[in-house]
Parts: sequence; C-alpha cells; structure tokens
Amino acid sequence: MTSTTRPVPFPDDVTEGFWDSVRARTLRIQRCGACSRFNHAPSLTCPSCGSENLSYEPVSGRGTVYSYTVLDDAPGPGFAELVPLVVVVVELVEQPGLLMVANLLGATGADVRIGAAVTVEFEEISEDCVLPQFRLAEV
Ligand SMILES: [Zn+2]
Repeated sequence: MTSTTRPVPFPDDVTEGFWDSVRARTLRIQRCGACSRFNHAPSLTCPSCGSENLSYEPVSGRGTVYSYTVLDDAPGPGFAELVPLVVVVVELVEQPGLLMVANLLGATGADVRIGAAVTVEFEEISEDCVLPQFRLAEV
C-alpha cells in the first residue's frame, strides 16, 4: 500500500465531480448549462451568470503556462524530496482565463517559460489519491 504525507484534496458535494474524473484519468471541468462558460475551481453557482445548472465536461488537458514559480524550500511535510518544485498556473485552451494551479512534472525552473505548451498528466500520489499535474508538451 502506498501512502503520502503530502496534503491531499477532500472532495465535497461541489468538487467531487472534478475529483471523480481525475481518479478516472480524465480531466473534466465544471461548465455552465446556461451560458456555456467553463469554471474552475468549482462553485455552487456560475460566476458568470449565476445559474445553478452546472455539470462536468471533458476538456483536452492542453494549456499554456500563464504564470509559474519555483519552490526551493519544501512548503510542508512530504515535499522534501520534491524540491525544487515548479508550480504552474495553466490557462486551459478551452477558454481564455480558465486557470488551474498544479505542479509541473519533469521540469526545472530553467525549462519553463510563460506561454509554454503543457498537457495534463495524472499523478497517483497514494493508493486513493490522484492529482492532475502538467508536463511540458512535446514540440
Ligand atoms: Zn453561466
């Protein structure tokens, strides 16, 4: 059995559709049935139009680096072996301003630049926890 000392997500009624999809190795993002806008992080009502008609739709898992930082010091227990850790804000291709925060796997701060193409990768950090991370896209 694998386990982790890293902090793990605790899905609730609003976010469990997102985490269910991640466990199934697909990326689904909350989308409004009224105005068709994607929304992340998930919320109870659409931030654009206020509708409660929200569901989870599959997205491509492709995006670009919107912003990033490199953590040289472990931010908490369980991260010691991961530093330096590249944390990225990714703008998904489906919609301008649709942002996700994740780790950039397999890259150092010297490898990453704003606007770089990335693709989602599902990292199993413990037996029952999968996280959506990103990796620089092949060019
Ligand atoms: Zn809406």
